[in-house]
Amino acid sequence: MGQIAGQPIAFHNYDTVIVGSGAAGLNCAVHLYEFMSHKGIKNPQERIAVVTAGLGLGASRMSGSDKQTYYKIGTSPDVPDSAEEFAKTLTAAGCCHGDLALAEAIGSLREFYHLVQAGVSFPTDSMGSFIGYKTDNDPFERATSAGPKTSKFMTECLQKQLERYGVKIYDNQEVGHLLTVGSGQSKRIAGVVTIDKKTLNESNYAINVFLGANIVLAAGGPGELYKTSVYPKSQVGIHGLAFKAGLIEENLTESQFGLASIKFRWNVSGTYMQVIPRIFSTDSKGKDHREFLTNFFPSMGRMATNIFLKGYQWPFDPQRIEGGQSSLIDILVSNETQKGRRVFLDFLHNPTVPDRNIRGDSMEDFDISVLEPEAYDYLKKAGALQETPIERLFAMNPLAIEIYKENGIDLYSEPLEIALCAQHNNGGFAVDKWWQSNIPRTFIIGEMAATHGVKRPGGAALNAGQVGGLRAAEYIVNFYGCPPQSIPPQLLAQQERGDSQVEIEQQLSQFVARLESYKSSAGLIPEQVIEEIQNRMTASAGHIRELNNASEALEKAVKLYKDIQEHGFKLEDARGIIAAIRAEHLALTSVAYLKAIVELLKQGSGSRGSHLVLSEDGDQIHPDIINGATGRALRFKPENKELRDSVLQVEYDRAAPELFRCRAIQVRPMPAERKAFEPCWRDYREGKIYS
Ligand SMILES: Cc1cc2nc3c(=O)[nH]c(=O)nc-3n(C[C@H](O)[C@H](O)[C@H](O)COP(=O)(O)OP(=O)(O)OC[C@H]3O[C@@H](n4cnc5c(N)ncnc54)[C@H](O)[C@@H]3O)c2cc1C
Repeated sequence: MGQIAGQPIAFHNYDTVIVGSGAAGLNCAVHLYEFMSHKGIKNPQERIAVVTAGLGLGASRMSGSDKQTYYKIGTSPDVPDSAEEFAKTLTAAGCCHGDLALAEAIGSLREFYHLVQAGVSFPTDSMGSFIGYKTDNDPFERATSAGPKTSKFMTECLQKQLERYGVKIYDNQEVGHLLTVGSGQSKRIAGVVTIDKKTLNESNYAINVFLGANIVLAAGGPGELYKTSVYPKSQVGIHGLAFKAGLIEENLTESQFGLASIKFRWNVSGTYMQVIPRIFSTDSKGKDHREFLTNFFPSMGRMATNIFLKGYQWPFDPQRIEGGQSSLIDILVSNETQKGRRVFLDFLHNPTVPDRNIRGDSMEDFDISVLEPEAYDYLKKAGALQETPIERLFAMNPLAIEIYKENGIDLYSEPLEIALCAQHNNGGFAVDKWWQSNIPRTFIIGEMAATHGVKRPGGAALNAGQVGGLRAAEYIVNFYGCPPQSIPPQLLAQQERGDSQVEIEQQLSQFVARLESYKSSAGLIPEQVIEEIQNRMTASAGHIRELNNASEALEKAVKLYKDIQEHGFKLEDARGIIAAIRAEHLALTSVAYLKAIVELLKQGSGSRGSHLVLSEDGDQIHPDIINGATGRALRFKPENKELRDSVLQVEYDRAAPELFRCRAIQVRPMPAERKAFEPCWRDYREGKIYS
């Protein structure tokens, strides 16, 4: 224990510190232990620590869908698949580094079986085949699932494994700062400063410092950035802190949006849509029911088939709107909610034709036989041709009904309110093929890492998180090795202090001073700051974007961040410190997102991934779909495919007027070298594969 600026500070010293206890962080810790023990390192558990704001928090632990998907190389006994084919699927829509895609492909089965061994119940047939199904942006049937809570099971099994290994998990630790030492090429992240949320009080900020020779950041996405969001509440991430430490972001513009329930935050993908529920809207009080989809589809068959397709074409996709495709439904849902109306899925009734006096009067009534072959054949094969959506859902996936029941929603008696929500960011912090960031010895894995391109197959996030943890652990143990732990835990007790220790002490003093300054009585209210950020992000950085609007939002976001620097916060009590820390780094994160969005729009990117770019001279969706800002028909600009070979990077620069600098880099190609066994074996023995 040390003392800085009047605050007691507990120091912990590890070889590797992992931030985040989601599926990615826990898996990396398991692999670190295993690689270390295979190397004969004694007591590896004493060298690794997991530090987390909440063992029960984060997307892996709290999120899911009808059958949450894990995307892996095909395991069908008769359909061949290869790592190269898999990687081509990952890179197909562009802006994705080929080396990362190939590494994710090659590591896919190893990690899948690692989870199976850890106890995750992925289903097999009687011969032991892991049967697959088709998911978003997936031309094969590579997806599998352990049910609605796949990622929760993953974290539970990995946590048990870590407990068996005796690796320590520090829970309730809110990260407040990343300690950096050195500069230029020799810059390192030396440790993580946290506040223990359980013991924090007026006089003791309960500060912990976790020093590590290697740091693995696995704190997930900044879910709290958006108002309309299906990320679990309190999943805030540490993007703003990572920017300040000097980590570079890529593909930040590529957030994914999709339909999700909002009372209980859960994706309504897969069978929820494949059973073709009735979709209707009401006014804000739940009155004035409207079948708002029917006017926009030429026939019941087309409309019902597209509701079905939304199941595995789940994310909003601007390239699936025209010609009455499935993402027209996303646009129509968001159109309703933007008017202040509410939208519901009704599993008790099939899609319904409205009052025949209004447009859409030519539409026929629903009958399962009107479905187009893709939908009809799927349902027939699944034994789901029952009369009503709820019966079909029960036949296909009773657990999908159960999960809502567990969370107080009975799909047999009430409709499910939905919205088009922020769900995931395909971008994140830049990594190389070992998931090492631009700062040596700092690794980024899971949703925090920028490994996906503009589109990704559903389930590829979980695969990427597992492979990233494997690669980082392998590199840490085999390249950096595990020298004896050299820094004494009580860093400040040392008589002779190196430059790094002085830097660390200075930063800790500044950190304490910052927390003190949060008590200013004239400052901002953290909860209001977070609300302002969320409203702005949903309005200007969501699934519909426009240059002038995003530029104005960027200006306001920069102002908000600068106001926080100038005025600090006004807190009710010491517990408000956590909200203040979050508000400050989320404010910086929102500037980064908006800066990237504005930059990409200026490059003339057009509509891609999961967002639509408005343009007065663009393509019209439908005369009755109106741009709220102009009152005219909404028009959008198609994707500029020339940008598929580049990735937009964003880096914090305190002196820049908008706090960040952007540059476009070329995507790294997929490595084509295939070595013969003997030379490869030699490289492996000599450790050259890590150089
Ligand atoms: C509704 C929903 C459905 C999804 N469905 C799928 C799917 O079917 N297939 C798929 O592949 N992906 C899916 N995803 C995405 C996937 O679940 C996530 O990308 C993945 O679980 C992220 O794992 P992670 O370990 O990187 O982060 P998380 O699981 O989010 O874990 C983050 C960890 O960091 C900690 N943390 C966060 N902030 C801080 C802080 N400030 N200080 C300290 N600790 C902090 C948290 O407590 C947590 O332990 C879905 C996401 C959502 C929201």
